[in-house]
Formats: sequence, structure tokens, C-alpha cells
Amino acid sequence: MATHFTVLEEDPNSRARLGRLVTPHGVVETPCFMPVGTQGTVKALLPRDLKDLGCQILLGNTYHLHLRPGHDLIRQLGGLHRFMGWDGPILTDSGGYQVFSLGAMRKISEEGARFQSHLDGSSHLLTPEKAVEIQEALGSDVAMVLDECIAHDATRDYVRNSTERTVRWAERCLRARNKPDQLMFGIIQGGLFEDLRRWCVEAIAPMPFDGFAVGGLGVGEGEAQLNRVSCFTADLLPVARPRYLMGVGRPQDILAAARAGFDMFDCVIPTRNARNGTLFTWRGKINIKRAEFATDQRPLDESCDCYCCRNFSRAYLRHLYMAGEILSAQLNSLHNLYFYHRLMDKCREAIRSGRSELWPYLPDNDTVP
Ligand SMILES: [Zn+2]
Repeated sequence: MATHFTVLEEDPNSRARLGRLVTPHGVVETPCFMPVGTQGTVKALLPRDLKDLGCQILLGNTYHLHLRPGHDLIRQLGGLHRFMGWDGPILTDSGGYQVFSLGAMRKISEEGARFQSHLDGSSHLLTPEKAVEIQEALGSDVAMVLDECIAHDATRDYVRNSTERTVRWAERCLRARNKPDQLMFGIIQGGLFEDLRRWCVEAIAPMPFDGFAVGGLGVGEGEAQLNRVSCFTADLLPVARPRYLMGVGRPQDILAAARAGFDMFDCVIPTRNARNGTLFTWRGKINIKRAEFATDQRPLDESCDCYCCRNFSRAYLRHLYMAGEILSAQLNSLHNLYFYHRLMDKCREAIRSGRSELWPYLPDNDTVP
């Protein structure tokens, strides 16, 4: 029995749990949010900024780093941690999601996924064995198996065949493992079909994975379906292993999933929205582009004590955005990730104390009224 994950507390008011994940580069308190560091950097932020705002673990993208600068080069330069100047835990995805979303001319076979690079059109074959080899070269703390992320409107026949192949690929990833201190998570697919999700859990959960992820959600199926399938699947997963809901999502989605028993989350929303001028506050989202902020001397969120909110006005943030200044992306990203990390702090505090009134409150309105 592995001891890398411990459930410390269970919330009496929901399925949520407080946990501790031990990785080669440190301990992660769960539920946790992982900022996405696509190209070996969380866009616009220094590793120092991430540490300061309470980030515990980053996500790295295998697809991007494999194509540029190449995983062999990163291995030669001492691995991804040293390369990007981050000494905390890193989880890498398998590259599958980007092959399906970015790679042109992709063709799936039993062997793997053949695709053309979105950078130069060169042809590549990503197999389960290759996905493991790349992630071992990067030296991440947690590696993910190669899976196929299925479109939310795929037919039942397609989902069944694809999910069966994802299970065979998971077995191949385990056999290809060569780095005993790197954790490896299996992935549950099955689309929006509860019986296929259950079948997939029954096939994957007995395998010796260090954690289990639920994939194929947050891809346009809508909030009701996301909540239904994620809750259903979380309940089927082993209690003693971390549960990771991949690619989700908005603050309200993360809150719902944490209460359903998920421990780990990642999403580009806080950083991508920041660069587009959409900022999260405890009263809803703010679009900093709007003319009404041109003379607004208040901080972005009066209840936020991030560096951005302590030092700058909405008027200044709007000005930076309108002028296309680099500092706009930097301050906005800092604030949004600070918000996401305080959201997770509040989740953990509510579980730790068992007091339902401590769960973070998010307004029903999506934007500030
Ligand atoms: Zn702030």
C-alpha cells in the first residue's frame, strides 16, 4: 500500500476531503489548484510570484515541450524543474489532449496518435510508451497516462471503442514505466455515459496507479452534464488515492467538484482570462476593458490583499490593458491566480473545521452587478 497520499479529514457536510500528496519535490495539500505552465512557464509570472501567492504544484504540457525545445534537450539541461527554475512539484499531462485539440491531421490507431505539429507541420507518433518516455525525460513528479480526450458529442459506439483503447493504453503506460519515484495517474474516460464511466473505473482502478484522473469533461458539455458525470465518477473511485478532475474549470465548477470528492484541479481559465482582461472577484467577474473603470480609483477587489489589489486602481489596470502594456498581463494573472489559490485555501479550511458556513461563497451572477 503506497503512502504517498493520506486523507486527513473528511467533510461531514459533503464528499470533500482534506488530503496530503507527497511527491519527490514536496508535499501538496489538497484540494489544490495547479496553474498551467504550458511552455515551461506560467504565462506572465515568475516562479517567485507563484511561490508567493501560495502555488504548491504546477502543470507542464508534454505536447508543447516535446515539440519545442524537445524533451531530450530538457533532460540534458537537468530536467524541467531546473530548466524553468521551479523547485516545487510538477505534474505533466500526457500530450494527448493537445494532440486532439491542436495537432492537425491526427489519426488514432491502436499503436498511438499520429499528428502533425502545429508549429511546422512535421509528422509525429505519440504512443503510450513515448508519452511515458517524454515525461520521464522531463522529470515531472506526477506523470499522466496517454488517453484519448473524446468530443462531448461523440456517439456511444465511438466512446465505447475509444474508452476500451484508453484502458489498453493505460496498461501499456504502466509496462513502460522506468522511473520508480515518479508517480503515475490513470485516467477515466467514458464520455457522458454513466455505464461506460463505470466500466472504465472497474478496468482502471485495480491497476497499480498512484492516483486517478477523470478526463473528457469541461469540453463544452455544459455545467449540468459536467456536474452529473463528475459526481457520479468521483463516487466510484478508490477513497485512498488522489482524484484529479482534468481541465476544470471555473471557480463554481471547482467548488462543486471539491464537494463531490475531487482533490486536484488545473485550468487555463485564470491566466487566459487575465490576459483578456477578465478578472475574478468575490462579487463576480469584472471586465477591466469597460469604460466605466477609466476613472475608478478603487482596487480591483476591495477584499483581496494580492500585490495588484494592494497597489493599483481599476483605472490603472484598465489603462495598462488598453495600452497593451506587458504589466497588464502580469498584474492580471497575479490577481486571478491569487484568487484561485484563496478559493482552495477556503475549501481546505472548511473541510478542516467541518463548518459548512466556511465554504467559499460565490455569487450566482457571473459578473459584478
Ligand atoms: Zn487581488
